Amino acid sequence: MTSLTVENINVYYGVRAALRDVSLEVGEAEIVALIGSNGAGKTTTLRAIMGLTPPKSGRIIFGSRQISGLAPPSVVGLGITLSPEGRRVFPQMSVEENLQLGAYLKSDKDEISRTMERVYGYFPRLLERRTQAAGSMSGGEQQMLAIGRALMARPKLLLLDEPSLGLAPIRVQEIGKIIEEINREEGISIILVEQNANMALRLCQRAYVIESGAISLSGTGAELAASEHVRRAYLGG
Ligand code: ATP
Repeated sequence: MTSLTVENINVYYGVRAALRDVSLEVGEAEIVALIGSNGAGKTTTLRAIMGLTPPKSGRIIFGSRQISGLAPPSVVGLGITLSPEGRRVFPQMSVEENLQLGAYLKSDKDEISRTMERVYGYFPRLLERRTQAAGSMSGGEQQMLAIGRALMARPKLLLLDEPSLGLAPIRVQEIGKIIEEINREEGISIILVEQNANMALRLCQRAYVIESGAISLSGTGAELAASEHVRRAYLGG
């Protein structure tokens, strides 16, 4: 079953096209990677899905609903959340307060605390540091917090923007394992945006390559990892 269908979307920043006729599909409980170099349009694709940078044309369908044109809170309400690139946590607030904010559309207190327990289960480090100011955590810990916060809304589709950015190789492996675990245990579909093509192609079932705002290649993770172009341009081989 399809979770998300992006159909021929075009996104502009002013008069400049950032996405040109981008189409992609994500199946139920599937991990789909979106790889590409700096400025290729990866973040813009995620922002378009969230309703943060609405497409000028094309459609985005989630389940049976058209979501292009909806405001971001409505998109979150339907079950899509974004863990943004970099360290976009609220630095003065504690770890736990940041997590609580992720559940801002939920009102059932028991459900919120059950979800928080699950998040602490995936990221025991966050539990150890639940009262610490988010801004004083390490880069890797803040990345975990951003993912945890996105999980607090109990999404059906999780958008991860560069979860490995700036992490030491051992931490990249660790976060990769957790992403697989979340996908397996929660049955959540994931779009994994990465410059680290190596990690992304290993984790995903399918992947798309985006270049200059357009999808240039797609296939299974294994197919793309074997592609001469992908190896030369993205795997350093
Ligand atoms: P990176 O890996 O460097 O984060 P990306 O693939 O996520 O890159 P985007 O952030 O989607 O790339 O940017 C796509 C293009 O749109 C780039 O040329 C970028 O400069 C441009 N762009 C992004 N945000 C804006 C904005 N707010 N205003 C104008 N141009 C923008």
